[in-house]
Amino acid sequence: MTDRLTLQDPRVQYPRPPFPRQPQPVPGLATQMDPKPDHGEKSYRGSGKLTGRKALVTGGDSGIGRAAAIAFAREGADVAIVYLPGEESDAKEVVALIEADGRKAVALPGDVTDEAFCRQLVANAVEGLGGLDVLVINAGRQQNREDISKVTSEDFDKTLKTNLYALHWIAQAAMPHLKAGASIITTASIQAYEPSAILLDYATTKAGIVAYTKALAKQTIEKGIRANVVAPGPFWTALQSSGGQPPEAVMKFGEESVYGRPGQPVEIAPVYVLLASQEASFISGEVYGVTGGAGIA
Ligand code: NAD
Ligand code: MG
Repeated sequence: MTDRLTLQDPRVQYPRPPFPRQPQPVPGLATQMDPKPDHGEKSYRGSGKLTGRKALVTGGDSGIGRAAAIAFAREGADVAIVYLPGEESDAKEVVALIEADGRKAVALPGDVTDEAFCRQLVANAVEGLGGLDVLVINAGRQQNREDISKVTSEDFDKTLKTNLYALHWIAQAAMPHLKAGASIITTASIQAYEPSAILLDYATTKAGIVAYTKALAKQTIEKGIRANVVAPGPFWTALQSSGGQPPEAVMKFGEESVYGRPGQPVEIAPVYVLLASQEASFISGEVYGVTGGAGIA
């Protein structure tokens, strides 16, 4: 593979559809994906932007959260990751990668739809890392339903609990631990602005994440703490192949973007690094679209 930093046409830098059919149960595993996503394992190079920081990333086992966790470690941060117990194999790989960079890794398996776990995970991260400077609330549930009649109350409840309630519980529990200079980053979606017909509950939560984070940023800046949103477009992650999209849509995932391909998780990691770092000192209350040319937010 060409080095990520070599001048090249970004449209052909990574795999393009068609992709093999590959449905997986929830939670999907990155290791089961074909082609394998690039989370920066070999391709992300750090330059000391987060030296000595202590970061917590929910959904840090795979996909966008994994790319952020790897990049943070390579930039010099100790990193705690939260994931579902069924994702232990993906999480073990991330822990090994963080440790290979000489940083501390804290593994926090559990279910963020449980309020008590959300409060405990913050306490455990603070204890394990010895503090908290960067909070990435990124875990998400996305299950497509072709018609409003198919969106059950259980679906609606689970999606809101995972994507919105957990955001509130974790942010609320973390606030007393964050000091001036700290950074909160949430993961919304292009779905907040251009919702798909098949993602009623999911798109609703993503619009909610944007509003919540912008409101929170107004409070946190009073303490010198920044808060921002990242709004991804199509990224090649297990969220999509484990029911986020129908299996046929995964086979041509990213085709409709002007790039004609999905983004790879490593391609969004630099935005998380920027927002986490002190280089983003004047950046708060913003939404960063990383959509492969859709121009949202
Ligand atoms: P992913 O499946 O790799 O990551 C999502 C993670 O959420 C999982 O790894 C899992 O650890 C965690 N999670 C889900 N339910 C949980 C629960 N109940 N308790 C604890 N953890 C739970 O997929 P991803 O695409 O990297 O998703 C990361 C974020 O990016 C999500 O918020 C998603 O909505 C958002 N996003 C993804 C895309 C995309 O195209 N992949 C686009 C826009 C936004
Ligand atoms: Mg995962």
